[in-house]
This record gives sequence, C-alpha cells and structure tokens, in this order.
Amino acid sequence: RLKVDEELKELQARVDNWSPPAEITLFNELPLSSRTLKGLKSSHFLNPTPIQCLAIPPALKGQDLLGSAKTGSGKTLAFLIPMLERLYQDKWGPMDGLGAVVISPTRELAVQTFTQLRDIGKYHQFSAGLVIGGKPLKEEQDRLGRMNILIATPGRLLQHLDSTVGFESSGVKVLVLDEADRLLDLGFLPALRAIIGHFSPGVVSSSSSKPNRQTLLFSATQTKDLAALAKLSLHEPVYINCNKAG
Ligand code: ADP
Ligand code: MG
Repeated sequence: RLKVDEELKELQARVDNWSPPAEITLFNELPLSSRTLKGLKSSHFLNPTPIQCLAIPPALKGQDLLGSAKTGSGKTLAFLIPMLERLYQDKWGPMDGLGAVVISPTRELAVQTFTQLRDIGKYHQFSAGLVIGGKPLKEEQDRLGRMNILIATPGRLLQHLDSTVGFESSGVKVLVLDEADRLLDLGFLPALRAIIGHFSPGVVSSSSSKPNRQTLLFSATQTKDLAALAKLSLHEPVYINCNKAG
C-alpha cells in the first residue's frame, strides 16, 4: 500500500510537470503506472503511436480533448490508457461505483474496445462491463451497479440511464466518445445529447475534492456536426490532429 502511494505521488508530479521530450519511442517514457506498463508489455505494445504520444499526457492531466487521427492509428489506447491511469490515481475501488464510460458506435467496436481494455488493464483491479444490448435488460441491470468501467453503445446506455434504478452516473470521472464521426453518421446526436445531460457537468468546481467529469472525444475525421458535438460535450479542450499534412 505504501509502495502504491509513493508511486502515485511520483506519477502525479511527473504528469503535472510534463513537457514532451523531442521524441518518445517507448511507452515507459510516458508517465504511466507500473500496472499499466506491465499490461501494455504483456499485450506486446511497446511503442506508442503519434496520437497516443500526443493525447495521453494532456488526458492524464485531466484535460478535455478532441483527438483526430485516421482509422488504424491507435485511438483506442489513446483513451484507454489515460482512463485507467485517472481511476488508478484516484484510488478508484469497488465502493466508488461507475468511474468511466466509453461510448462506441457499434456493438462490434464496443466488444473490440472491451477486449483491448481487458488486455492492457489486467494488472488493475477495476471491474468492467459491456452495455450493448442483445441480452435481456434485466440481466444487464443486475451487473451495472458493480461496474467501475462501462463500454456501451448509445441506445442501450440511454435506456439504462432512463430506466435502471440505482444506476449512478453522476460520479463518472472520464467519459469517452469514440469514433465520434461514426456516432454522428449513425444518427446518435440526440441520444448523445441526452446521455451527456445525464452526466455531471464537465466544469471545474473549486469546492469539490474530486474533479468533475473529463470528456475525451476521438474521431477519424472532422465535420461540422463534430464541431457541434464537441461544443456540447467538451470544456476548454486540447485539440490534437494527426491528420494534418506534413
Ligand atoms: P483506430 O481507433 O485509430 O482506428 P485502433 O485503436 O483500433 O485504431 O488500433 C488499430 C490497430 O493498431 C489495433 O489492432 C491495435 O491493436 C493496434 N495498435 C494500437 N496501438 C498500438 C501500438 N502502440 N503498437 C502496436 N500496435 C498498436
Ligand atoms: Mg477506433
């Protein structure tokens, strides 16, 4: 326990004082916990991709983020890693309930993200679940109260937010909107609007000991609708665009 406290203190200092080195070639050059580094290593992830190098440090600081990078560039780990680290830094435990939610456009993507979380998060002790429909609502409802992290599709998540008694969404610390351009293409803007309305506002409150919601938005492309969704969901975001020429 003492060892964990010491590591967390040291990590927080590295995160706070972070200024990017000229080049990062290894995950262990980023200010990440030994649990996460071990999970990455055992999943054979050694070298962070450009979007991961650029997005992870500000996300670790708790900043909102809009990250754009083409398909296949590694956006999933760009949000899963800081999500795990933020909960770990906060010593999130079974009694703290739901701490992070990832919204994916399709069941298939949600399952892929869940699998990647399982892999790299296996040395952490968070409970994680999928909320993607295809099973009776009641069955999902019974498990929801025990989850720290949910990977969800918008429709099903909204169904639970509206109807599952005791589903506590106000403590959520990290909200991820993944593949946001696809979410919008599939017509999920109204559902997302409603979902965001359920979570605590993403503004900083000076009185609370735990900071409010952080939102990470990732997309392969940028459209006008995406700007609208960003405005709706993000608070003073950092913009990271790996699609720029040159
Ligand atoms: P995107 O969401 O940007 O389309 P993904 O996160 O799905 O990309 O990643 C695409 C592929 O690259 C996946 O198979 C993933 O496992 C792999 N990948 C992601 N990050 C790394 C990395 N740092 N090193 C090696 N492979 C990676
Ligand atoms: Mg993706």
